[in-house]
Amino acid sequence: MIGLIAATANGRRNAAHLANAWPDARLYEGKVKEALNLAWNECDGIVLFLATGAAVRLVAPMLESKLRDPGVITVDDAVNFAVALCGGHEGGANDLASRVADTLGATPVITTASDSVGVPALDSLGERLGLQLEEGSDLASVGAALVSGEKVNLVFEGRWPLGPLPGNVVRPDKWEAPLILISDRLVETPRPAAVYRPPSLIAGVGCSRGTRADEILDLLRLSLAEAHLSEKSVAAVASIDVKRDEAGLLEAADRLGVPLRFHPAKVLSAVETPNPSEVVRGAVGTPSVAEAAVISSGAQLVVEKRKSENVTVAIGRMPVRGRLALVSLGPGDDALIPPLAREALVTSELVVGLEQYVGRVRHLLRPGTRVLTPPLGNEMERAELALAEARAGGSAALVSSGDVGVYAMASPVLELAGEDVDVVVVPGVTAAQAAASLLGSPLGHDHCSVSLSDLLTPWEVIGERIRAAAEGDFVISLYNPRSKGRDWQLGKVREILLTHRPPDTPVGIVKDAYRPTQQVTITDLASLRPEDVDMLTIVVVGSSQTRVVAGRMVTPRGYFS
Ligand code: SAH
Repeated sequence: MIGLIAATANGRRNAAHLANAWPDARLYEGKVKEALNLAWNECDGIVLFLATGAAVRLVAPMLESKLRDPGVITVDDAVNFAVALCGGHEGGANDLASRVADTLGATPVITTASDSVGVPALDSLGERLGLQLEEGSDLASVGAALVSGEKVNLVFEGRWPLGPLPGNVVRPDKWEAPLILISDRLVETPRPAAVYRPPSLIAGVGCSRGTRADEILDLLRLSLAEAHLSEKSVAAVASIDVKRDEAGLLEAADRLGVPLRFHPAKVLSAVETPNPSEVVRGAVGTPSVAEAAVISSGAQLVVEKRKSENVTVAIGRMPVRGRLALVSLGPGDDALIPPLAREALVTSELVVGLEQYVGRVRHLLRPGTRVLTPPLGNEMERAELALAEARAGGSAALVSSGDVGVYAMASPVLELAGEDVDVVVVPGVTAAQAAASLLGSPLGHDHCSVSLSDLLTPWEVIGERIRAAAEGDFVISLYNPRSKGRDWQLGKVREILLTHRPPDTPVGIVKDAYRPTQQVTITDLASLRPEDVDMLTIVVVGSSQTRVVAGRMVTPRGYFS
């Protein structure tokens, strides 16, 4: 049992998050000293949400022996650090500090010499998204308000997929300090305010041969200033492809520190623009360069074409793209959750999935993450929920067990998702791979998977695929092999396979791979009893070459024959 003791509002909030996320954690309420007395006798580990000084003073009189005392962790109010205070090894405090740090997004502080710990990345606001802090922002005072639990107002123009934010960050109706503003517009803000510039603007530029970079930058800066837009938000410069070697243009983009995007005249001339010019058409084959380059980059024109002697500039705003991560959780054990999946989870504002899967990763989610768990059978609803969040400019994760792309949610989502959202697919360890690792190496040569579920595939097709796989001498992983209402197919599959393979062909049966209830059996085709198999099982049938070596199922690659 892990005891949780807090004294401040922030501490209580974070303690409640742990209590909710961990089945083995318990909140001790009331006076801190009395709570600690109780927890000391009942718990293997204790997490204090206190300053180290207060923690040391409280704990010191209770210490007896490092062999018997519980491990003690203390977490600062801002959840920056989870400090393993005492009982690092024997008391399990080092491991507990890492666990606390994982769940709360803190850095574990471990001072025993022999431990090296993986430090989880602490995302600074918007860094991932390319947000830049405006000079003169009141970072210290807004930061102090944020960590002390005071209400902080967040205003963004166009939503940005920021990831989960602390509960004291609110979206206000009117602008009030302390304020976090995410905007490309130069506006007055109440103080204190932290202003972030998103990479949201694109500058379309046309120019004559030999134009100097200074003239381009002067006109661009003037256009931005007059439109009250921040130069920090310019994320790219766009032009016509005949300008690929235009030195002044290349230098201007370089001095802005942004990439150049070139569009062919044919593409530009097809774009309708407010200020076309026949003179320009005569020169480069399109009536607009600056405005057309902005629009063909997918941006909305916010500043129409302006001219200096040799330069034209137009400015557009890119639509904000939300992000949907399709996340693989592996077969069951936390250790097989890929680091990329953990990263996707901690950067998502919304996590969608079946309760049985989301439940496995709740302890990895950051405070402030919203969770939706529509029941089994609502695949389309789950896909739509996650997509809607991403389409609105948010960041969502949709989770599946094993690999999200294998008999799981990636396909239905990608059938629905348009180009307006960024989709990231995080791969994972499939049930077949997990089972294979427990059986030995049955997938060492050519293999395939067949799902016996006839919900979406008629049995005739399934049976035909089994026959073809048997004829092709593939090792076959049978997914969804048998359920309560679907109990004869596996017997039929065995029959088909026995007409192509000998009765002593090795068969591996793995139930609940990498879960506490795991069962691994190696048998053969003749002895395979469908009644030993259920929906949480995968059956791996060997090829004509598969053998059992020292109790392990092996499909040779041919080195020793
Ligand atoms: N996306 C998953 C597959 C989901 S289909 C993957 O990549 O593994 C569900 C089927 O997968 C189950 O009926 C069962 O056959 C198999 N399965 C999933 N997890 C399993 C586990 N831990 N042990 C054994 N089989 C499993």
